[in-house]
Amino acid sequence: MRYILLGIIVSFLLSSRPCLSEGVLELLQEGKAQASLAPSERRMVQVIDLTYPLNEKNAYWPGPSYGPFKYEVLASIEKHGAFSGRYSTPEHLGTHLDAPNHFEPFQPSVDQLTLNDLIGPAVVIDICQKTILDPDYALQVEDVVEWETKHGTLPPNSIVLIHTGWGQRWGDYEKYKNADAQGTLHFPGYSKEAALFLAEKRQVKAVGIDTLSVDPGISKDFPTHHVFNSRGRWMLENLANIEKLPPKGATLIVAPIKIEGGSGGQARVWAIIPP
Ligand SMILES: [Zn+2]
Repeated sequence: MRYILLGIIVSFLLSSRPCLSEGVLELLQEGKAQASLAPSERRMVQVIDLTYPLNEKNAYWPGPSYGPFKYEVLASIEKHGAFSGRYSTPEHLGTHLDAPNHFEPFQPSVDQLTLNDLIGPAVVIDICQKTILDPDYALQVEDVVEWETKHGTLPPNSIVLIHTGWGQRWGDYEKYKNADAQGTLHFPGYSKEAALFLAEKRQVKAVGIDTLSVDPGISKDFPTHHVFNSRGRWMLENLANIEKLPPKGATLIVAPIKIEGGSGGQARVWAIIPP
């Protein structure tokens, strides 16, 4: 039944082809092909959630006036017949999106990103072995080239994610931001050279990471933020479960909170991996 329904949806969606990203189309077409197979021959589409749950332990950017996520109960089923709460949070806390206006003026705010902007083929570059030796490691152009020798040239409009292994520290804010005695943070990120290569030579749509920032913790001038934001592109930070994604082939869907004029905000991020 599910595959019959999928077939109907595919037929409908294919008639509105210009509205869909290539990655989503491929997945739908793959699903249609799967529908024609016998049940024993069908493989399953996998969906991976790259989002941490929001709570008061979530990592946030340790800048002045920032602070933890707060939640309070407004009404309970026992007392009021329905449960509800309210929360407050910095935009740059937990799994979140940095909008183009975060580091550059006159660029789109989070609500101005289109749904098409927020979907694309996901590429994962693993630098875990390098960050074990050097927590300040910044992705190099050579790392991207090495990935391409194994997997081919990055597809246009890719969303590049780097897997640094930092997710193992999630839940312990001190270990995660890894500040030294002088307060300098130590965690991996992208180098300016790699950011420029990805933005200009490969025209990637966006970048993401499993740390507090796409720039390494030691950065003082945040070049990767500027490289992408100045080109109207966005970033993802504090991603969960990157290790569950293949190096290529997944489609990423990003659903940030739609704050009018906002510099970013919490996002539900998930990846669809074809069979
Ligand atoms: Zn941010």
